[in-house]
Amino acid sequence: MDWERIAADTPGAAERVFLDSAGSSLPPTPVLDVVTGHLRREAEIGGYRAAHERAEDLDQVKVSLGALLGAPAHAIALTDSATRAWTQVFYAIPLKPGEKILLSGVEYASNAVAALHRAQDDGAVVEVVPSDPVGQIDLDALAGMLDERVRIVSLVHVPTNGGLVNPVREVAELAHAQGAFVLLDACQSVGQLHVDVTELGVDALSGTGRKWLRGPRGTGFLYVRPDLISSLEPPVIDLHSAAWLSQHSYTLSEDATRFELWECNVAANLGLGAAVDYLLGFEIQEVAHAVGTRAGRLRAALAEIPRVRVRDLGRRQCGIVSFTVDGVDPAAIRDELADQGITVTISPRASTLLDMQARGLPAVVRASPHYFVRPGQLDSAITAVAAIAAGHH
Ligand SMILES: *Cc1c(COP(=O)(O)O)cnc(C)c1O
Repeated sequence: MDWERIAADTPGAAERVFLDSAGSSLPPTPVLDVVTGHLRREAEIGGYRAAHERAEDLDQVKVSLGALLGAPAHAIALTDSATRAWTQVFYAIPLKPGEKILLSGVEYASNAVAALHRAQDDGAVVEVVPSDPVGQIDLDALAGMLDERVRIVSLVHVPTNGGLVNPVREVAELAHAQGAFVLLDACQSVGQLHVDVTELGVDALSGTGRKWLRGPRGTGFLYVRPDLISSLEPPVIDLHSAAWLSQHSYTLSEDATRFELWECNVAANLGLGAAVDYLLGFEIQEVAHAVGTRAGRLRAALAEIPRVRVRDLGRRQCGIVSFTVDGVDPAAIRDELADQGITVTISPRASTLLDMQARGLPAVVRASPHYFVRPGQLDSAITAVAAIAAGHH
């Protein structure tokens, strides 16, 4: 990877230690330029003409996302968040009373409450697939829980509160053998890991722009398997997702635009495209390696510090490092590190309630180094955490 160019494109990472790409990463300069450039153009000639000028580039956003995910552009929808993407397809899957939704043990809160909402409204039954002793989804337990009443299997690829990577392909194979729809929350994996929808065998996938892709906030995307699109009716439609034909009829768009709404932040969508193109300028395996080695180094060093407990589970791990310090509130650690120019965040119990409850954790500190973090900066963070752990003793 071209480290000089990466550093030049990421001025925010020069002075400060940025370890929150799992929360909201630092967009590289080309992304910022595209977004601000478009906002300026809107101020000159108005949003409609400005968008018209960039019509081809806007189409290209889905082509780029498709290239990243191994999918055709017409199978991609742009949304304003990962949650919007996830819910647009989740609520489109028909459920009869007594039919089941299976969630993963590290399910994200927004997915879980939507599932409970459908249990309440449609009489669906929500069950949680336990995690195995290593923390990944328990495939044997899943196999035992799958029957013909299971309609949806929701899996989180990488949870929001730790570095484990769930085995997607194995889950998809088991679920498909029973005819269930496999919905993958790839919010924390796209941008840091190689994610290919065909290799993974999922029916739909949701993701966000602002995390590992280094795109703007307020962007998200959805992939839906092309042959399934026509069977899915999104819960919310408008004149973009559907065509109004007559007083009594409309027809839904044939491709994944049926999951979109017309109005959107055009500048942000162009910025998302620029972020994906920026990533495609690297080998994704090199990105994954750079992220993995940084996180691995951080994890190993933190584990050596007295009173620091690394909380990551999983056989396969990635760029999220979660930890606690005995006797110190995770929020206080975040704030003390922020005072020293080190950005981390906390993942509270409520974001992954079942997993955190099972482990008796009220919150964890989450450090998520992207490839642009320099190894020396990791050492500063390690030293700072060690000082906090020693100081509060
Ligand atoms: C951040 C996150 C989400 C939600 O993404 P939004 O863009 O905020 O809707 C969903 N799932 C996981 C695992 C996340 O970490």
